[in-house]
Amino acid sequence: MSRRSLNLDDTLYGYLLDHSLREHPAQAALREATRSQPHAGMQISPEQGQFMAMLVRLMGARRTIEIGVFTGYSALAVALALPADGELLACDISDEYTRVGRPYWEAAGVAHKIALRLAPALDTLDARLAEGAAGHYDFAFIDADKTNYDAYYERCLQLVRQGGLIAIDNVLWGGSVARPAEDASTAAIQALNRKLHRDERIELALVPIGDGLTLARKR
Ligand code: SAM
Ligand code: CA
Repeated sequence: MSRRSLNLDDTLYGYLLDHSLREHPAQAALREATRSQPHAGMQISPEQGQFMAMLVRLMGARRTIEIGVFTGYSALAVALALPADGELLACDISDEYTRVGRPYWEAAGVAHKIALRLAPALDTLDARLAEGAAGHYDFAFIDADKTNYDAYYERCLQLVRQGGLIAIDNVLWGGSVARPAEDASTAAIQALNRKLHRDERIELALVPIGDGLTLARKR
């Protein structure tokens, strides 16, 4: 029995996928379509999508937010886990990236759950707050530009209900968070990690899945 998380070599990672991955055919097809895109590495891993879907189902989440859609794989994973009347407010600035995903959202029969907002995510989140949506949401996933992570977190903390969950991606940032920061993104993630560790407004878990996923449950 190990006291710490295993390092997954290719063989063990393959075993994990072979023995647990359950994707909708549209998810597998969207991953394949994304593989040839520039920046394909921005997509979350399939087991992380399945984990997030599990969280959404466990919570019985209906109203959700995604900040950073890219080609739509994480949005698809969450949307598939939502009930028929569930909603995902999907925030991105790129029509080029997000248009890749829409046919797969349609193929999976979940496009009606996804409201894509093509604008800086801070504008979309601030507009929702101005509309009185504080406490409206059950779940939020933060995965856009890292230098705005703290601003996204503070908005999401207002937008989710008590007991709601904020999931924050790339919090281990390829391991670079444990070394002196050499760029603004690393410094921003480090600062948020430090802040969350002592943030009394939330319960906290940092899960070493993918590139590190922080779970912050609003008290
Ligand atoms: N969650 C996606 C997935 O798993 O496939 C990956 C998201 S990718 C890491 C980051 C995305 O954030 C890009 O699609 C980019 O266009 C978007 N983005 C960057 N700056 C943004 C901003 N200010 N507002 C909204 N989206 C932004
Ligand atoms: Ca990410």
